[in-house]
Amino acid sequence: MTDLTRLTAAELSEKLASREVSSVEVTKAHLDRIAAVDGEIHAFLHISKDAIDTAEGVDVLRRTGSPLGPLAGVPIAIKDVLCTLDMPSTAGSRILEGWVPPYDATVVRKLRDANLIPLGKTNMDEFAMGSSTEHSAYGPTHNPWDLDRIPGGSGGGSAAAVAAFETPLALGSDTGGSIRQPAAVTGSVGVKPTYGGVSRYGAIALASSLDQVGPVTRTVLDAALLHDVIGGHDPRDSTSLRDEWPSFAAAARKGRENMSLKGVRVGVVKELDAPGFQPGVSQRFHETLDLLQKNGAEIVEVSAPNFEYAVAAYYLILPAEASSNLAKFDSVRFGLRVNPVGGGTVEDVMAATREAGFGAEVKRRVILGTYALSAGYYDAYYGSAQKVRTLIQRDFASAFALADILISPSAPTTAFKIGEKIDDPLAMYLNDVTTIPANLAGIPGMGLPMGLAPEDGLPTGLQLMAPARADARLYEHGAAIEALLEESWGRTLLSQAPELATR
Ligand code: GLN
Repeated sequence: MTDLTRLTAAELSEKLASREVSSVEVTKAHLDRIAAVDGEIHAFLHISKDAIDTAEGVDVLRRTGSPLGPLAGVPIAIKDVLCTLDMPSTAGSRILEGWVPPYDATVVRKLRDANLIPLGKTNMDEFAMGSSTEHSAYGPTHNPWDLDRIPGGSGGGSAAAVAAFETPLALGSDTGGSIRQPAAVTGSVGVKPTYGGVSRYGAIALASSLDQVGPVTRTVLDAALLHDVIGGHDPRDSTSLRDEWPSFAAAARKGRENMSLKGVRVGVVKELDAPGFQPGVSQRFHETLDLLQKNGAEIVEVSAPNFEYAVAAYYLILPAEASSNLAKFDSVRFGLRVNPVGGGTVEDVMAATREAGFGAEVKRRVILGTYALSAGYYDAYYGSAQKVRTLIQRDFASAFALADILISPSAPTTAFKIGEKIDDPLAMYLNDVTTIPANLAGIPGMGLPMGLAPEDGLPTGLQLMAPARADARLYEHGAAIEALLEESWGRTLLSQAPELATR
């Protein structure tokens, strides 16, 4: 019998619709896989106790002829930054240990309405601050390609779960790359939608002007199917767009069928094709450019001179917003409360709670953000960073006048070793050079597998970016590029991952 965990969500969808398999069988196969390998991977912080019951309910609906969406009965993992009524939601932090929210995030409610099967909550850097998942208060997640290496971050749990075949689908959140960079280093697909395209209601906020929830999957089509479920207007999110979105799955199917980039102007951002990148990453990127050109793409070089300042501007704007968003963790309203020895004032309790409940990276960013927002420095730091943000948006506008999509590597290196960068925050921050500009401009970005780096045999990622609201373009061209790359390898990238020891 086929191993159900090896199938994509689209393949599972067909087998479920034709009743060749039941959702209970599919869900059980994934729970068994989690039981067998997650001891090594540690992608999950919590496994749902209701998954089999939920799957049974969907099977009943199907047997009785209820109309069901394409992903009904398909399992999904949820990043622990998203509020779930029936499961703890910790955002990777000690301060929220055991906290069960009184409501579902809108995206989670949409998953339930579309009859997907939540398997559990995935590990992440505390409050989504990081590029390696080592900043989780609950211990690191391991990369399925090499257990001594990081799975990227902050959404390393979601990416590792997908890459280790523990789930076909996962949700992530991307503030500066936390969907696309983990996808790159695990050989999976991740999409950061246009800002406002997917509701942020119930996503525990890191930096509200940058955060977006999006899909983490093994194929572009699966990401599109999931985006179709979670996207759309939400009156509970004041930044939610009112657009009528096209079917992203239809766009992905079209791209996969045509397998061509004829007439597509593909812009290579000069500043994101940097000499400091790992040689194998640059090599695969340039080979991909040749492949695209052979298949009809018109490659144009574009320049975005202000991208040089993107990381610096981001690490002022993000801490500023985060310091304000995290002020609500005050020992009164949520989670942990620590009483100082010998008692104390309300302020003493708050201080003791935040001291014990937050990790080092969170404290670093709260201090940085509070400083950047303080009266004497607001204009010099926060104000300047916002001006840089405008310049970066203008760089994108000029680039998109010359190109339909922009491409770059999704991350400058392959997965690094656990522990290698943990004591060097700046080295960690520089991982995000390629992904941050899209967040600062609010445009959509997609990461997909670009091949294995010759020097270490680890996955590299290709990033595609499109103008705001043109997410469908990413799915169409991304699916074409994915098909062309897979044809050149003769197989999918993840089928080349080493087998994990199972218990
Ligand atoms: N690595 C980036 C950071 O540490 C991105 C985080 C994110 O996208 N949530 O801020």
